[in-house]
Amino acid sequence: MVRLLIVGPQGSGKGTQGVRIAEAFGVPVVSTGDVFRANVVEGTELGVQVKEIIDAGSLVPDELTSAVVRDRLSQPDAADGFLLDGYPRNVGQVLHLDQFLAGRDESLDAVIALVVPRDESIERLHKRAVDQGRSDDSEAVIANRLAIYESETAPILGVYGTRGIVDEIDGVGELDTVTDRIFAALDARGLVRSS
Ligand code: ADP
Repeated sequence: MVRLLIVGPQGSGKGTQGVRIAEAFGVPVVSTGDVFRANVVEGTELGVQVKEIIDAGSLVPDELTSAVVRDRLSQPDAADGFLLDGYPRNVGQVLHLDQFLAGRDESLDAVIALVVPRDESIERLHKRAVDQGRSDDSEAVIANRLAIYESETAPILGVYGTRGIVDEIDGVGELDTVTDRIFAALDARGLVRSS
């Protein structure tokens, strides 16, 4: 039973690492970006509401995002743990999540902060734009997302840092090397993997 959050700039590899960690601990990944994109593809009411915001690389309003996460975390598969990816993304969302988890007598066990220099993330995002053609991977939108990361998301590490739950992990290197660094940090906290 483990409750984790992975944080990192766009292009830090947090999506890939998040899936690996969640698998090792036997918990679901809860990725707000994935939920929003799936809704856009399916053309749901939520999808219609968020499409333009996502395409501009801006943040979906907190109330809407937090409602989506509360819903998702209330599903049975998240009862015994989860790995959050992409939420919380600003200090307001941290407070929402705190409140929700406190209502269940829960709290986060660890926050994995992937550290990748700006130049390296930009290079990786350009490559992904070519490989995957994500609609929010254009040059101007990438710049907007990284700027929002710096101004809104990075500060959440200060909040979690005062709680002593942040593990800063060097995100530069082979995928497996980075995964091993994350496992080592979580091992050191006594968090036990199921596989
Ligand atoms: P990335 O981290 O590469 O920007 P994500 O898949 O995490 O990609 O998110 C894609 C988009 O979804 C974001 O640019 C934003 O518009 C929206 N989004 C995702 N998570 C949140 C969140 N917690 N709060 C507000 N908007 C969000």
